[in-house]
Formats: sequence, C-alpha cells, structure tokens
Amino acid sequence: MINILDLNLLELKKWMKINGESEFRAKQVFDWIYKDVWDFEDMNNIPKGVKEKLQSDFHIGIPKLVEEYSSKLNDTKKYLFALEDGNLIECVIMKYKHGNSICISTQVGCRMGCKFCASTIGGMIRNLSPGEMLAQIMKSQHLIGERISNVVLMGSGEPFDNFDNVMKFLEIVTSGNGLNIGQRHITISTCGIVPKIKEFADINLQITLAISLHAATDEIRMKSMPIANKYSIAEIIDVSKYYINKTNRRLTFEYALVKDLNDSRLDAENLSNLLSGMLCHVNLIPINEIKENELKTSSKDNVAEFKKVLENNNVQVTIRREMGLDINAACGQLRRSYIKCEELK
Ligand code: SAH
Repeated sequence: MINILDLNLLELKKWMKINGESEFRAKQVFDWIYKDVWDFEDMNNIPKGVKEKLQSDFHIGIPKLVEEYSSKLNDTKKYLFALEDGNLIECVIMKYKHGNSICISTQVGCRMGCKFCASTIGGMIRNLSPGEMLAQIMKSQHLIGERISNVVLMGSGEPFDNFDNVMKFLEIVTSGNGLNIGQRHITISTCGIVPKIKEFADINLQITLAISLHAATDEIRMKSMPIANKYSIAEIIDVSKYYINKTNRRLTFEYALVKDLNDSRLDAENLSNLLSGMLCHVNLIPINEIKENELKTSSKDNVAEFKKVLENNNVQVTIRREMGLDINAACGQLRRSYIKCEELK
C-alpha cells in the first residue's frame, strides 16, 4: 500500500483520473490531511465510493510516538517515533519567541561516519521517503498543538545522500497544497557532498544551506569526517561560492568544536582566511559529548576565544545555543540510547 504522503497534488489528481473520479477530490483530500485528519473515513465531503478506493490503495503514514522527552533547561522537546516497519527516528522541537522549529531526520541512521556523531554508529539502515519526512512535522504539530514555522534538516542522516526524496519533500512542504512552509524558513545541512551541492544550487531555491565544515584544513577534517577523503575543503569553498552566486543566499558553515582537535587559535585564523569576504556565517557548536567515543567538548573560554578571532577577522559568527543537552538532543543520541536499552532487556 502506498503512503499517500509520498504523493504531490499532481500525482493524486492523476490517480483520481485513472480511477474515474474528479480531479478536484485530490485537493479536498490533501486539505483534510494537512489539517490533521488522518482517517479517510472522517473526510466529510468525500463520497463513500471514493473513500473506499482511497482506502484500498493508500494509507496515511503517520509515525507512532514511542518516547517523549521535555528539556527542563529550556523549551525543547524530543520525540522518538516508530515508522511503519518498526524503525525508529527522532526529531527535536525547539520553541522560540518567533515560532516553533523542528529538526527532522532524513535517513534511519547515516553512513557518513563522522566521529563525533551518534547517528552514524550503526550505519545507514534506509532512506526516509518524502512522506516520512513530512509526517515528522505533521505528527509533532499535532502533539504540541501548535503550528511549526521553521524546519531544519539536521537530524539523523545526510540529506544529500537521499537527494531525490529530500527534493520531493521540499516541494511538498513548501507547497500551498502541502504544509505551506516558506523556503526561507527551511535549512538543509550537509556534510559537504560537492556534486549534490552543485545540483542543489542549480535548482535555485531560497533555502538556507548549511555545510558542516568542522575544520579549516583537509588534514584535520579527515580526522573526524571520512567524507573529507572524497572532497577537499577547496572544492567545498568553490561550490559554496557557486551556491551563493546562484541563490544570493547567505550560507552557513557549521563548525563543531572538539577539544584539542580543531579549536586552537591557529584553527580560528585558518578558518577566517578560508571564509574571508564570503557571504556566510559561522555557527560554532561545542560538541555534545557522546558515550561511544572520547571526544571532548571545547572549554567555554576556548569557544569564546575562537569566536573572537573570527570576529576580529570580520567573519560573522554565532555560538549555537545548547538546547536539550539533558535530553540527548544531539543527532541520533536518543535513538541510540533507546536501541541500547531495548537490547539490554
Ligand atoms: N548529515 C548532515 C546533517 C545531519 S548532522 C550534516 O552533516 O550536516 C547536523 C549537524 O550536527 C552537523 O553539523 C553535524 O556535524 C552536527 N553534529 C553531529 N553530532 C554532533 C555532536 N555530537 N555534537 C555537536 N554537533 C554534532
């Protein structure tokens, strides 16, 4: 059975036509679904015959809530969801004054192998479909009883390793016939798959691109990110400039600070040189320590010093707010710890 959330309006219209029904029914069905009505039975303006046909071909793939964690430190929630095949994914909701943000997963697990990241430990199990990405937002909105206005693709998985599904998700999530979230309210984060960044630039969307750089030299980058063996920082900078030129959007570079690995004054100087004059912004992320390795987070003083060097060199920089540290909010941590607990039972 097909997950109806994987379809765009055009595809559902086609299905209606093939099944001898009026195409406008497609819009009616989507209106219900995106207003949180997830049973064809409850769609009052849909005739019985159409409902029966829908029921025999489709299901509405909303995940089940397995665990919910609320941070005591700030307004952050983390949900662990079970997909229909039993795979677990997680997403984080952050409440800000200007609206609610969600961080969603794009794959079950991840195969990029970054040393500091928990998502990648069991490898990549499978890609998420466009509907499974959408459903994380829909279910979360339902649970918090509020709309979500910002979406970041920074949960488990590498979005550009699941390119086609992510592009279709972006189409539906931004569509007036879908969740209707503006492109400018969406951020996609990649570990730096250069040809895909180029392809994404050519689609020319107004989406914020964030690149996980995490080092200013290839040598250091290779120590924590296997993808650095495939694409050099020089190639990443080239394609970043291409993206900026194409879209006129300011790009974000994420820089996870790891004690004694990439957090020295020299690292900050090198990073400044690399980015000087670019329309970009650096987001410093003191790493969340995970049980599975010995990497330590940089000291507060070190982080402040690093930031200062960038500022002195006119590179825009912020330090990521540490949200949900008490609820394992870093990528993949919750799923990992849950799977571990289940294994011990
Ligand atoms: N694969 C994509 C998106 C998911 S990771 C990417 O690499 O960008 C989202 C961000 O969280 C990345 O910048 C990633 O490097 C970072 N991250 C992963 N584990 C982390 C940890 N333990 N502490 C801090 N940041 C982490």
